[in-house]
This record gives sequence, C-alpha cells and structure tokens, in this order.
Amino acid sequence: MYKTIEDEVLKRTAPAELWDEFIQHEFERLHSFCLLIYLASMGIWLAFDLIVSFLGDQGFTWRSMVFIAAFAVLAVVLMFTRKARHFDWLNLTFVFLITLGIRLVIDGLPPTFHGIWLVLAAATTLYSASVLPLSRWSFFAAQVVTWLILNPFMGTGIGLLELKGVMTIAYSVFLCALTIYTFLKLRETKLYNYIMSKLLLDQAYNDTLTEIPNRRSFMTRAEKSLQAAPREHDHYLAMIDIDNFKKVNDVYGHDIGDEVLKRIAADIKAVMAPFEYARLGGEEFAIYLAGVRREDVEALAGELCRVVREQTTRHPVTISIGVARVEDGDTLNQALIKADEALYESKHTGKDRYTFHQ
Ligand code: GH3
Ligand code: MG
Ligand code: MG
Repeated sequence: MYKTIEDEVLKRTAPAELWDEFIQHEFERLHSFCLLIYLASMGIWLAFDLIVSFLGDQGFTWRSMVFIAAFAVLAVVLMFTRKARHFDWLNLTFVFLITLGIRLVIDGLPPTFHGIWLVLAAATTLYSASVLPLSRWSFFAAQVVTWLILNPFMGTGIGLLELKGVMTIAYSVFLCALTIYTFLKLRETKLYNYIMSKLLLDQAYNDTLTEIPNRRSFMTRAEKSLQAAPREHDHYLAMIDIDNFKKVNDVYGHDIGDEVLKRIAADIKAVMAPFEYARLGGEEFAIYLAGVRREDVEALAGELCRVVREQTTRHPVTISIGVARVEDGDTLNQALIKADEALYESKHTGKDRYTFHQ
C-alpha cells in the first residue's frame, strides 16, 4: 500500500501553487531556525571583526557599528516576517550585507590570508543559504551575490592560471555544485514528504464517497471547538439522517443511493459552510455550530431541510435533523447522544423537520 501511494506521489509534478504553499509551510516551520542562523552569522562576524580589530591592529571602527546595527535591524524584521516570499528578499539583503561585512574584515588582513578566507566565508554563507526555506530564484541570487562580493580573484592579486588560482577555481566550483545540490535535493525531499503527508491526511480525514470530512475529522475538530474557552455565544450540535433511505436503495439501487448521499453532502456543505460538518457514517451527518444563537440554528436547520426537499432531481428525498445545545461541561459524546435523541423525535413526529433537544 505504501509503495502504491509512494508511486502516485513520485509520478506527480507539483503545480506552482503547491510549491508556494510548501515553501510557506517550510518558512513557518523553520522561522526560529532562520532567526538562529542570522544571530549565529552575526555572532561569528562580530567575533572575527573583534579578533581582526585587536589582534590584527585594524581598530574597531564606526563601520563595524553600522554593520552590527544593520544586521540587528534585519534580524528584527525577520522576527516580524510572516510570508516566505518576503523572506526571499530579506535573505538576499542579509547575504549582501554579511558578505560585504566579511569582505571588509578580510581586506584588513595581510594579503596572504585573502584567498583562503574569502573561499571559507563563501562556503559558510552558501551552506547556510542552502538549508534555508528559500525560493529557487532567491537561493541562486544569493549564490551570485556571494561570489561577486567574496570573489577570491578580486583585489587579491591571485592569478587565474597560477597554482593557487587553479586550486581556488576548482574548489569554488566544487563548493558551488555541492551547495546547489544540497539545496535542490533537500527541497525535493521535503516537498515529497509534504505531498505524501497531505495525501495521507486527506485520505484519513475525508470521506471518499462524499468528499466532505469524515467522523475522525469531526471528532477532532468538534472536540477542539468544544474545549475552546471562553464561549462567545452558544454551541449547538446537529445530527442529520436521510428519511426512508433504505427505500431509495431498494427502489433505485445502491448507485443512486450513493448519488443521493453525495448530493446531500453538497447541500450540507453549501448551507453550513462556516461550521464543522461531516459524514459520520452510512447516511448520517453531523454539524457542530460554534458561536451561534438559537434563532440562527433554527434558520439554518430550516434552510437545510428546505434545500434538500426542493432539489429538482429524479430521486427526491428529505432529511430529519436533531439539534442539541452543548451545555458547559458536556462532553462531545453526551452532546451527540442528545442530538440523536432529538433526531429520534424528528423521525417520530413526521420526518422532514428539525427538533431541538428538550
Ligand atoms: P429512517 O427514515 O427512519 O431513517 O429510515 P431509513 O430507511 O433511512 O433507515 P436507516 O436510517 O436505518 O437506513 C440506513 C440505510 O442507509 C441502510 C443502508 O442500506 C443505507 N446506507 C448506509 N450507508 C450507505 C452507503 O454508503 N451507500 C448507500 N447507497 N446506502 C447506504
Ligand atoms: Mg440511519
Ligand atoms: Mg435514515
């Protein structure tokens, strides 16, 4: 089974919206990690700046203060950034500033240090970028910015064809390839896991026939609403059962019965859109209405009965509804029992109606 689903996932190519959704999801999940990377980068840069300032006799200048302030501003902006596409730009700015800061520190070192430290700095920057939740364009732009500013051939006097130059080029190419590969592979694996989890959750929490949430989903979400405190308005729970449904199956066959189930599910979805609704099983549905008044529930239940009754279709049916007010201290099961009792009342007083639990 796992293999079948896996094959299905691997076959798919993710559309652009799914990529966006996935990157946003990753960004939200890794928000603190991104902040940690920024703070660590700032810390490392500051440590090097101080070392070079005091041991290398450069002096800690106003420029260092400007860089620290700029990094701090970016870290604060990151704390308030909520959209992955904003982070793409923010990170590019960060990469630009940190590589510039590093370049200035390295330029203050004796020339023999330049080449190796520039490549080391590029490695650190690119490796960090490769694990961040970035869009592809943003990551490649970070590569370009990094190599432009930390270019080990710019102002270092290293000749392209001398031994040091050739070794630097070879290592830089290797580094480029490695970080690009890490970035793309990591993204692909994470996307695959994301699609897989979505698919499995979808199958576990949705009813295959009617394509609305199933009992498992309902119990989880209604329980959450029930626990939510404080309650602004009342909560109600409604149980729905199709009237004389056995007859539909007997007269028209099971397939038509299934069509009717799908139609009723669509009606419930249309009328009860803002609430938690589900197919509990068989031809029974439930709705959890949080934060409503009794008049609202009466109007909605009446509307749902009317919509189902007045459907222009070759196989008309009606539904019965039982409603219970969820009292403080009620468990979900207690509320379901009450709603079921009210539903029984609807069935025994003529069907095609709603009844409130007394
Ligand atoms: P009542 O008005 O009292 O509810 O009468 P009823 O005939 O609807 O009785 P009941 O609620 O007990 O009927 C349940 C029927 O629903 C039995 C079963 O054949 C049918 N059913 C349950 N699940 C499905 C399904 O997935 N597809 C189809 N086609 N029928 C189903
Ligand atoms: Mg039933
Ligand atoms: Mg029934």
